[in-house]
Amino acid sequence: MNPSEWFTEQVPGAESAFSLKIKQKLHEEQSEFQYLEIYETETFGNLMVIDGCTMVSTRDNFFYHEMMSHPALYSHPDPKRVWIIGGGDCGTLKEVLKHQSVEQALQIDIDERVTRLAEIYFPELCESNNDPRADLRFIDGIKWVKDAAPDSVDIIIVDSTDPIGPAEGLFSEAFYRDCYNCLSENGMVVQQSESALYHMKLIGEMRNAMSQAGFKTLQTLFFPQCLYPSGWWSATIASKADLLKFREQDCADKSFDTVYYNADIHKAAMAQPEFFKKTFSL
Ligand code: SAM
Repeated sequence: MNPSEWFTEQVPGAESAFSLKIKQKLHEEQSEFQYLEIYETETFGNLMVIDGCTMVSTRDNFFYHEMMSHPALYSHPDPKRVWIIGGGDCGTLKEVLKHQSVEQALQIDIDERVTRLAEIYFPELCESNNDPRADLRFIDGIKWVKDAAPDSVDIIIVDSTDPIGPAEGLFSEAFYRDCYNCLSENGMVVQQSESALYHMKLIGEMRNAMSQAGFKTLQTLFFPQCLYPSGWWSATIASKADLLKFREQDCADKSFDTVYYNADIHKAAMAQPEFFKKTFSL
């Protein structure tokens, strides 16, 4: 095997790695915030890498983008205003805009270059960017949420990079408190929460910070994502409501296409593994 033909992301601590055979490097640059690379791979289409970590591939991004958006949107009674913090590849934005109830979908990514590259190398993820309900801004999501007025949003989706560099503060109690303060009555935050096989400490700290910030209900959901460390990823929903009520019939009757998500997947993703229940006394 010629190592130069492969892109490999090593996972420090887990001492494991995931590799994709590449055809060519399409682009690389140091943006103001992070190091961005785009590869053409043999079997996964195009691949975006930020600071050495895989972000998005053409072939498997649907798992992540669908599971970051639809479970929360179908757990909120009437989601009209949705903010995506991060998410510069625009894949989550595209899924959110599939919901007719949504009147405003605001994407706030710190790095405009991520979106400009997605427009070139992942045009299918950006096809809803001109929807009149979409609003793309390029500023720090931490500051945006801190400055927001109470009751300005129904769902905040934190589609961020790992908790290092510009995304570090997106995993803090102070950030979740600011989210709590600007969310409406039944509002919720959804945060990508890494792998339950590799990152239980981080998930525990995140859940603790969300509770401390005032959220009443926490629900971690699980889905496959072979591109990310361990291949098994999670998202955590923190809600102001006492209970997450799945609008199952609305989901079953949905008027749009998905590749992975449906009502059965929703229920399956909400099931908690035994070790997870034991760790968090669920
Ligand atoms: N799906 C990916 C994952 O889990 O690896 C995340 C994809 S998305 C490209 C992550 C985005 O978060 C990046 O575009 C990055 O610029 C953005 N980001 C990081 N810190 C941020 C911050 N403080 N405010 C807004 N966006 C931020």
